[in-house]
Amino acid sequence: MKTLTLIIPCYNEELVLVESYQRTKAVLDSLPHKTEIIYINDGSQDNTRDLLNEIAATNPQQVRVIHFSRNFGHQPAVTAGINYCQSDLAVILDADMQDPPELIPEILALQEKEEANVVYCVRKSREGESRFKLFTAKLFYRTMNSMSEIDFPLDTGDFRLIDRKVMDEFNHLRERGKYIRGLISWVGFKQIPFYYERKARIAGDTKYPISKMFRFASYALLYFSKKPLKLVMGLGFVAVLVGIILAIWFTLGKIYGFSHAETGWTSIIFTIIFFGGVQLITVGVVGQYIGILFDEIKARPEYIVDEKKNFPH
Ligand code: UDP
Ligand code: MG
Repeated sequence: MKTLTLIIPCYNEELVLVESYQRTKAVLDSLPHKTEIIYINDGSQDNTRDLLNEIAATNPQQVRVIHFSRNFGHQPAVTAGINYCQSDLAVILDADMQDPPELIPEILALQEKEEANVVYCVRKSREGESRFKLFTAKLFYRTMNSMSEIDFPLDTGDFRLIDRKVMDEFNHLRERGKYIRGLISWVGFKQIPFYYERKARIAGDTKYPISKMFRFASYALLYFSKKPLKLVMGLGFVAVLVGIILAIWFTLGKIYGFSHAETGWTSIIFTIIFFGGVQLITVGVVGQYIGILFDEIKARPEYIVDEKKNFPH
């Protein structure tokens, strides 16, 4: 029988962990597979660390825990889970039960039937999310698709099943800023959707405030697309074209007397501000990519492990 790992990142999840573990364990025990859970404690400041250690102590065969040295973020936490997973199959899941573990048997069955390498879970609906989040998420996934060089499945988070082949390829990727759902699409192989209803969090608040959401979205865009550079270049060409047309218009106007350029204070100020802005935006966009090069060249590790529990070596 195949081995299965659940990868669960946790950041300040003391309110959900116990229930989350019980529900997840019940599902795992009903499966014929040899199963384990890898919890990644992403530098939580609450009681998550102690709770995870307690859970690990009661079930050393099945529960492994990785404590980070500080909060590195959701994507590095999932990356660590994939790096440490030795199983044939892995399912990436949130600690807050928004992606119900009870669906795992169905996902496994689908994977086996279709012999897929990836089963990505698509949200038919989302309970308990603010209108703002729903709207921005929708906008984000659609914009990403139109901007990026490959097509991503819409309305899909990191909740998915991946097999050994995909994990091995993932572990070879050298970029440090990882947009995991994008990278898993990017590796290819046979990927199939599984439709489900996303639930509300069982307790606690989202660990993705607007600032983190924004960073996440800009990572996705900058790592997967060079379109922003093309867009600002396009803006430059438009500006030049407008400049040439105006120059011709006013020169002819001067000769034939149909324009009075010397009364144009407003238009001069407007032009300076507008094209000054265009230039600053362009420099900003280029700067974003240089920032990424800077980060990637430093080649710092994506995360630092403080302590591991129940890992054989
Ligand atoms: N998470 C994490 N590090 C972070 C933020 C979040 O490990 O810096 C975890 C969090 O504990 C949860 C998962 O990532 O298990 C998804 O976060 P959350 O549920 O808050 O995001 P949402 O579902 O609201 O988008
Ligand atoms: Mg969640």
